[in-house]
Amino acid sequence: MQEFHHDRARALLEHAEQVASAEQVQQAVRRVADELNQRFGNPDEQAFPLVLGVMGGAVVFTGNVLPQLDFPLEFDYIHVTRYGDEDQGGQVVWKVIPRQSVAGKTIIVLDDILDEGETLAQVKQRLLDMGAKEVIIAVFADKDLGRKKPVQADIVGLSLPNRFVVGFGMDVYGYWRNLPALWAISPEDLKAAQP
Ligand code: 5GP
Ligand code: MG
Repeated sequence: MQEFHHDRARALLEHAEQVASAEQVQQAVRRVADELNQRFGNPDEQAFPLVLGVMGGAVVFTGNVLPQLDFPLEFDYIHVTRYGDEDQGGQVVWKVIPRQSVAGKTIIVLDDILDEGETLAQVKQRLLDMGAKEVIIAVFADKDLGRKKPVQADIVGLSLPNRFVVGFGMDVYGYWRNLPALWAISPEDLKAAQP
């Protein structure tokens, strides 16, 4: 069983195409950090933001960007997943909500990738409903779908074509979040490896 999983995970990468090198990934993280530092690093800035990482995809992005931020902040995580009928936008399910009050606070949401935007649209709305003063969305990557999304990111590290990517926190069937570069997996390989 273990071996089956191992082979299947490796097979997924066999025809994968690199869409961003590890170096380009780190440059994207740097750009996001620079923008956040510009916005919050001013000594006159009174906001003391609460940074929320969206688990699990944002775990690597979060871990890379946090040490590059140079202003006082608090950190927590939220866990949301989207599943169900994709055609109907999928249900966004909250597994972990913020444990402390967000009321009156400036929130920075860190996420891996803005795809259709359903997830972040709902995250933003919920945080505003809970009384957040302002919600700033910073994503590692934004997928170019060629159409308008229900939410925009305020800060984007990388713009990507509309392909299924893995690496830097993003998984394929649970695998390969650990890759330091970004890889696009072909639809055929995705289908062939389907659990
Ligand atoms: P949305 O609601 O924006 O369509 O979905 C966003 C979430 O779906 C992301 O936070 C991420 O977890 C997942 N996702 C979207 N596109 C990709 C992708 O290309 N690869 C992977 N691994 N996950 C993705
Ligand atoms: Mg996610």
